[in-house]
Amino acid sequence: MSQVLDSEHQLIYDTALKLAREKLAGYVEIMESQNVFPADIWRELAESGYLGVGVDETFGGTGGDYLAAALVGQAISRISPAIALSVGAHVNLCMHNIFRNGSLALKQQYLPGLASGTLVGGMALTEPNAGSDAMSIRTRAEPIKGGYLLTGAKTFITNGPIADVLVVYAVSDPKMGRHGLTAFVIETAWPGFQVAKSLDKLGMRGSPTGELVFDHMEVPDGHVLGSPNSGVQVIMSGLDLERAYYSANAIGIIEEMLDQSLDYARQREQFGHPIAQFELIQEKLADMATQLDAARLFTYHVLSLAQTGQRVSRLAASALLFAAEAANRATNHALQIHGGYGFTKDFAIERFFRDAKLLDIGAGTNEIRRILIARELLGDR
Ligand SMILES: Cc1cc2nc3c(=O)[nH]c(=O)nc-3n(C[C@H](O)[C@H](O)[C@H](O)COP(=O)(O)OP(=O)(O)OC[C@H]3O[C@@H](n4cnc5c(N)ncnc54)[C@H](O)[C@@H]3O)c2cc1C
Repeated sequence: MSQVLDSEHQLIYDTALKLAREKLAGYVEIMESQNVFPADIWRELAESGYLGVGVDETFGGTGGDYLAAALVGQAISRISPAIALSVGAHVNLCMHNIFRNGSLALKQQYLPGLASGTLVGGMALTEPNAGSDAMSIRTRAEPIKGGYLLTGAKTFITNGPIADVLVVYAVSDPKMGRHGLTAFVIETAWPGFQVAKSLDKLGMRGSPTGELVFDHMEVPDGHVLGSPNSGVQVIMSGLDLERAYYSANAIGIIEEMLDQSLDYARQREQFGHPIAQFELIQEKLADMATQLDAARLFTYHVLSLAQTGQRVSRLAASALLFAAEAANRATNHALQIHGGYGFTKDFAIERFFRDAKLLDIGAGTNEIRRILIARELLGDR
C-alpha cells in the first residue's frame, strides 16, 4: 500500500488485514454457497476488538477514530466485502450512531454489548416504498403514555435477520413532514418484531439482509435517539459518515483486484510472453492503480474532516461516488485480465465483481449521490 497513512493507522490496517487473511478467509465459501453468516465470524472479530473501534473505552469500545474504523472495514473487504458490509452495519450504522446521538443511559445500556460483539447491530431506514426517497418512510411511531407504538415494514436491512439491536427511523408526527421523523434504538427481542424474509442476493452473499416487520412494538421514551422529531438530522449525519466509511470498503476491493491482477498478469503467458507485457493489459493495471491512489487520498481526507465535526455531505457523497465507480471498473478490469478463468468460480474475481455492484446502490445510489453533489454546488440543500 502507498504510504498515505501515518504509522499508527498503517498498523491498524496491516493488523486487520492479517486477521482477515488468517481467520476470516475460511468462512467465505460457506457464505457464498449457503448464503449464511457463521456466528464464529462475529466471535473472531469480537476477540480482535474490531467490533468496538471508534467507541471510547468508557463504553467498552477499543477507541480509535473514524479512519481507524474504516481501515478495518477496508482490510476485511479485501477478503470478503460481505463480511465488511455486515461489520459496517454493526459498527458504523448502529454503534457509532448511538455513540454520537444516544443519551448516557442508551450508551451505557448498549455500547458495551455492541463493542464486545455480544450484541449484533444494524440500522433500518429503507422501506418497500421508500428507498432513494427516504424521507417518505411510513413506519409510524405513535406517541403513547411513556413512549411510542412502532408499526411498519422495513426492507433491505443488513444484519436484520441476526440483529439484537436496531436503530430504526419512523414518523412520529405526520403533520410535520420530514421534520416529524424520529430515530429509535430498539431490541429485536421485544414483542412486535418479526423477520418477514431473508433476502437472496446477487452479491454480498452471507451478509444477512432482511425484510422486517414492526407490529405495535412498544418503545419507551428513553429509547429515542437524539430528540423527538430530530430524525432527519440523525439520518443525514449518519448518511454522510456511512458514505465516507463505505468508500473504504470500495478501496479494499480495488486493492485486492489490483494485487490479484498483477499476480495473474505476471504468470499467465500467451503468444510466448506473460500477458503483463502487453500494453492493453498494462493500461488496465495503470488505471486501477491511479484510481486506487485517488480514492485513498480522497476518502481518508473526508474521514479526517468528519472526525473534526465538519459537515462533509458533498465530499462524502463524492468520495463514495468515485470509489464505488472505481471499484466496479477495477472488478471489470480484473475479470478481463483473468479472461475465461475470471468468469469461473475457481477464482475469487467473479465474487468481487458481484459484490462491488452494491457499492453503486447502498448508502444512496450513484444517481442520488450526483443529485446531492449538484444541489450542494448550486446552494440548494
Ligand atoms: C444488500 C443491501 C443492503 C442494504 N442495507 C441497508 C441497511 O442496512 N439499512 C437500510 O436502511 N437500507 C439498506 N439498503 C437499502 C439501500 O439503501 C437502498 O436500496 C437504496 O437507497 C436505493 O433504494 P431502492 O433500492 O428502493 O431503489 P429506488 O429508490 O427505487 O431507485 C431505483 C432507481 O431509480 C433511481 N432514482 C431514484 N430516484 C431518482 C431521482 N430522483 N433521480 C434519478 N434517479 C433516481 C435510483 O438511483 C435507482 O437507480 C440496502 C440495500 C441492499 C441492496
